[in-house]
Amino acid sequence: MTASQPDLLHVRSWYGLRAELGVEDRLWHLVRVGPVTMSHPPVVNTFLRAGLPEAERLRLSYLHEFGHLQTLPLAFAHAVAVLWAGLRQRRSFEGWVGWFLGAFLAHEATWELISEAYVVLGDRAAYRETYRRHPNPFSLLFWAGMASLSLGLTFALVRRISTR
Ligand SMILES: [Zn+2]
Repeated sequence: MTASQPDLLHVRSWYGLRAELGVEDRLWHLVRVGPVTMSHPPVVNTFLRAGLPEAERLRLSYLHEFGHLQTLPLAFAHAVAVLWAGLRQRRSFEGWVGWFLGAFLAHEATWELISEAYVVLGDRAAYRETYRRHPNPFSLLFWAGMASLSLGLTFALVRRISTR
């Protein structure tokens, strides 16, 4: 990663996709891939970085957004696997609404989980040191919550052969 502007980071993923990342607008984060701009509320970064000094908050937030880009193929593979298993099942209209909601949640939880795991693996000792000095009450909640959402929902969605 190289910083060319103070707040917009130009990055290139391991599979060649280039993007621009912005995290310092406190309300919205930005990922721009070519002409496509995806703004999203920094939910995970807001909670997980609560109480961190600015420099550390920025470092980890950028890494997390970059993690989304780097793990995009994994997130995509997960979505395809869930859809492939789910679309072969039979269910009522209400069943389909619930199923797609579940699939969306499972996808989001999985992608947040692997993006933050990317931060932990990339930052290693510094990550541990940061959270040792600034304990975060949401940390355990994030890992436990996202892991059970991701694994629980994915398993339930893929395993179920048919609902009503
Ligand atoms: Zn995220």
